[in-house]
Amino acid sequence: MTSIIALYPGTFDPFHNGHLDIARRALALFDQLVIGVYDLPDKHLLFTHEERIALIEQCLHEISADGRVRVMGYSGLTVNFARSIGAKVLVRGLRNSVDFDFELQMAQTNHWLAEDIEYVCLFANAPNHFLSATLIRQISALGGDVSGLVPPVVAQALARKHGHVPPLPPISPRKLRKRAGE
Ligand code: ADP
Repeated sequence: MTSIIALYPGTFDPFHNGHLDIARRALALFDQLVIGVYDLPDKHLLFTHEERIALIEQCLHEISADGRVRVMGYSGLTVNFARSIGAKVLVRGLRNSVDFDFELQMAQTNHWLAEDIEYVCLFANAPNHFLSATLIRQISALGGDVSGLVPPVVAQALARKHGHVPPLPPISPRKLRKRAGE
């Protein structure tokens, strides 16, 4: 039997617990999962393409240790990328009716572009259904605690981006003079 590769495409700016849950559940349904990170969506981004990919890679141990998940960056049409990696399924998450309307349009557009690729939506589970990357970026920018909403590496990366990481301890004048070779 041929193995089914599913592509979970998104911006993931940044990857949060809602994304993690969808990825985990998709992996229970399909043989392999590729988390596809879109390079330049038509929206303002906090993290670069490389940073978003690297952060998800550091979260993979929370999904699976058996090598069935990969993270790949891509640009251009999602269906073209899906074909290039042999993916037959696109996985998306649904939180509410706003997502539903958007995803219905995306599913129909992608079906028109590529009839051979199926579009599968998984409903967001509590307690992640209220989570959005936008909300997480805003909370973090204002100094709020997002540690319960994102994997630990993402929380650290957000804190660094927004300058909320505690400053290094001050260096004594004696140490400064020593560094300067005085
Ligand atoms: P987009 O790909 O539309 O730019 P995201 O990168 O934020 O948006 O999301 C990627 C996918 O994850 C989308 O299918 C989105 O609906 C889904 N998603 C976003 N937030 C959640 C959540 N809290 N729970 C489940 N799925 C989510």
